Amino acid sequence: MAERTPEDSAARAAILARGCSTPVKTATGVWVRCGSRIKSKCESCAELYRGDWAAIARSGVFDGAVADFRFYLLTLTAPSFGRVHRVPRDGGQRVGVCGCGVEHSAGDAGLRGVPLDGGAYDYAGQVAWNRDAGLLWDRTRRRMRDRWDSFEYFIVREWQDRGVLHVHAIIRIARFEAPSPDVLRDAARTATAVSRVDAGVLVEWGVQARCDAFRADGDGAKTIWYLSKALNYVLKDVASASGDAPVDVWRHQVALGDAARRMRCSRDCQPQDCVSLVHKRYGSRSQVVSASRRTKNRTGWSFTDLTRTVQRRLRREWWESRLREEAGDAAPAPSAAPLEDLAARSRRELIARGWSAP
Ligand SMILES: [Zn+2]
Ligand SMILES: [Zn+2]
Ligand SMILES: [Zn+2]
Repeated sequence: MAERTPEDSAARAAILARGCSTPVKTATGVWVRCGSRIKSKCESCAELYRGDWAAIARSGVFDGAVADFRFYLLTLTAPSFGRVHRVPRDGGQRVGVCGCGVEHSAGDAGLRGVPLDGGAYDYAGQVAWNRDAGLLWDRTRRRMRDRWDSFEYFIVREWQDRGVLHVHAIIRIARFEAPSPDVLRDAARTATAVSRVDAGVLVEWGVQARCDAFRADGDGAKTIWYLSKALNYVLKDVASASGDAPVDVWRHQVALGDAARRMRCSRDCQPQDCVSLVHKRYGSRSQVVSASRRTKNRTGWSFTDLTRTVQRRLRREWWESRLREEAGDAAPAPSAAPLEDLAARSRRELIARGWSAP
């Protein structure tokens, strides 16, 4: 590769950081993307992050011998920490009479996820559960792997209105050992972990769980679209105190934030001195999105071993080859479209398959 002049790298950096609202200047004077996954902080980087993960999600469904596998969409929830108001979404299904005695409409959004009785609500239990949810998923995935050797997963953690994590996972199991969705759901839902922080405390999933099987040549596209929407949702800055939250929601968030500040995030944590972000995110320490990785003996989720590191490298190479072209070098034409296009591509595929995409 030809030597770079300083002007070259400045131009390259400007292009690499293009679209980012708050690029960061590195010690060597190069501008790079801020890399935020929070939409309110940087729309461009958050969209890139979402698109990258959506591409990884689909590469574990469509890029292999799909007929040899069965796929599942599994949702696991947190236990109850006290009853909350049940408020339907706009255009959503009716949810029936709430514990407070009335049937809410979407207009009661100011009560969504708010405890019926804040005084009796187990805030400490909820933030501790968020803290231990990663460990619980780890135990769950080990248990599944013990039973079904070919088990691979892609997981998105989403915040529920009450301020607790729940989990959506796409799961892939080889057809010859694939269980029924009910068997898979029950195996996952009944997995447990013992908290590392609160010694002896058992961490469990809630009773509400759901598992559906799907075919990659059928509902797969719909599932990817659904996950991509879930990704969109988690890009919101959930734990930031939103100034315009309805007062009851705000009060609930304050109580959760307070419980998270007072909780121990590790065995040695002194909450009053601890700077860990766990105390600011309602206890959560989990990555929002993750997927099983390739090892010596396993495929990992992506059939093509697509990871975010690979995506970043491809993107850089693509831009560099474009830069060389612009500079008039006899560079080979880029072999692949940039990954920015992947989201648009899967949208076109979805529409081609007859699904409506907004
Ligand atoms: Zn940015
Ligand atoms: Zn209610
Ligand atoms: Zn701490």
